[in-house]
Amino acid sequence: MAVTKKRSIILWLLWIAIVPLGLYLVYQHYPPPEIDLWNITAFTVLAILTALMPLNINGTPMYLVQCVTIAVFLKYGLFAEIILSQLTVLILLFRSRSDEPRHIRLPFNSLMFFVVSAIAGIAYMEFGGEIGSTVIAHILIFGLIYEIISILSNHLFLYMDDMFMGVNKSFFSLDTVWDFAITLLVFPYAITLYITEAYIGATALFLLGIPFLMIAGLLRMYSSSEKVNIDLKKAGEIGHQLAARLSTDEVLDQFVIQVTKMFRLDYTYVIDYRDGELLMLRMFENDEFIKNQVPPVRYNKGIAGNVIVSGTPVIYDKKSEWDDIVTGYVPVDAESIMCTPIARNNKIEGVLLVASRKKFAFAAHQLKILDILSTYFAVSLEKAGYVQRAIATSERCGLTQLYNYRYLDEKLEKSMQKVKSGEIASLSLIMMDIDHFKSINDTYGHQSGNDILVKLANMIREEVGSEGTVARYGGEEFVVMFENYGKEFSMLFAENLRKRIEQHEFLIQSDLDSERSMEKVHITLSIGVSTAPDDSDEPNALIRNADRALYIGAKQAGRNKVAAYAK
Ligand code: GH3
Ligand code: MG
Ligand code: MG
Repeated sequence: MAVTKKRSIILWLLWIAIVPLGLYLVYQHYPPPEIDLWNITAFTVLAILTALMPLNINGTPMYLVQCVTIAVFLKYGLFAEIILSQLTVLILLFRSRSDEPRHIRLPFNSLMFFVVSAIAGIAYMEFGGEIGSTVIAHILIFGLIYEIISILSNHLFLYMDDMFMGVNKSFFSLDTVWDFAITLLVFPYAITLYITEAYIGATALFLLGIPFLMIAGLLRMYSSSEKVNIDLKKAGEIGHQLAARLSTDEVLDQFVIQVTKMFRLDYTYVIDYRDGELLMLRMFENDEFIKNQVPPVRYNKGIAGNVIVSGTPVIYDKKSEWDDIVTGYVPVDAESIMCTPIARNNKIEGVLLVASRKKFAFAAHQLKILDILSTYFAVSLEKAGYVQRAIATSERCGLTQLYNYRYLDEKLEKSMQKVKSGEIASLSLIMMDIDHFKSINDTYGHQSGNDILVKLANMIREEVGSEGTVARYGGEEFVVMFENYGKEFSMLFAENLRKRIEQHEFLIQSDLDSERSMEKVHITLSIGVSTAPDDSDEPNALIRNADRALYIGAKQAGRNKVAAYAK
């Protein structure tokens, strides 16, 4: 911020030192000829209308207004031209979008236009150019000198400013040639305007001005529809990419990354709307996901809250437009904001809030495209959710939610490959079977037996945590698989688990008892352990070995025991 302030002060000082005095000197040295009020008004109106239509070609602003100011220069001289150019500076200031603050753009543009006008105008006259000439050759030759000097001094001014700001650019580049070519385009039109006006008066301004303004308007429409086309195409591609993702996390991440890239965002937030609260699902700031979670806020407040309540997307061009509304988290240096609801089947599921540090960063059509993208996103998220649930149900046991035999089988196969390739040193399989479980069913009923299975499953899952894989292998048989656990370590784990279960009181409601009284039940486990590569390096053999250890080493040895496989 300090740099901006310094720049602003320097620019204003330069402006005060140069512009008023310069204007006075110009008036003294090159006094304007007699000016026809009606005529200059017509020129001014045309200049204002042209300035209201700034054109941007490939990122280069085209000052079509030069068509009029050059004609005014040729007719009324330097002073009149400077006044008219300064007037258009004011219009351009309010008309064209820029992220640079106005207190900088005003002195900068005013100074630049003044300096360029003065250099080109003085050069014109010092080289022998005449004001108000009607000799075509004279107008063409000196007009061209004026235009070329004007282009060069303008370029020099911008170049020096870049140097001052520490931007390193070469004085001549392909862009420079492109800039020159575009600017030169206005020259023939300015000459035509001047000559026709000299012969037929202000009527010429209508004859030439109206079609000119219409073409400028059409060009503006064309260039903005081109932008819409490009953005729509990108949005389509993002939609396809999202649809190809199969997990909700992937959809979320991809959506955030792609949207950020497409709209050149500094901040992207996906906010979940659930139970009347807004919760941050993804925070992406300066091209990085941020883990820091912000506390949830009530849904009906703030920028996102308003979008939920109204159901319509919003766009803000600068901070002062949303500063009073915001309640939740928004970075301090954000300026432009777009916020759209994320809706599925007419129900709002969340909100997308994106921001840029620049003012006026987003165009209205971009908000519509962001809205379409939010719909793509919601649909892709729903689809990924279905896929994920389908996968989850196909690999989990419906009662205990542990992995099922099929999943274990595949996982075991993969882990065994890792052992063979040396990626992991060992793989242990712990198989357990509840002792005399049949009698529990017989005493308390099958339903109560199920309750115990669920509670036991939860306890095993808790013990294992994220260290290993737990699966329900059969009816009341469970398997735990540990990568990189050797036999001793696995035996220790099994022994601890056995003790914990032995001591645990399972509280169940007997379904055979008409009063459905609560009962305390104890169970014990018989456990068998086998380890790869020591005992075997085949998946099926590893299971068989653990099973064998369980039956021979634990069950037959009296139950409630842990046994290792022995060859
Ligand atoms: P042990 O293992 O000690 O030899 O005796 P056990 O009574 O546990 O015998 P076994 O392992 O052969 O029998 C398993 C019993 O577990 C049979 C069945 O009643 C019960 N069981 C199996 N699956 C389920 C289930 O999903 N729910 C309930 N409630 N019981 C089950
Ligand atoms: Mg059994
Ligand atoms: Mg059993």
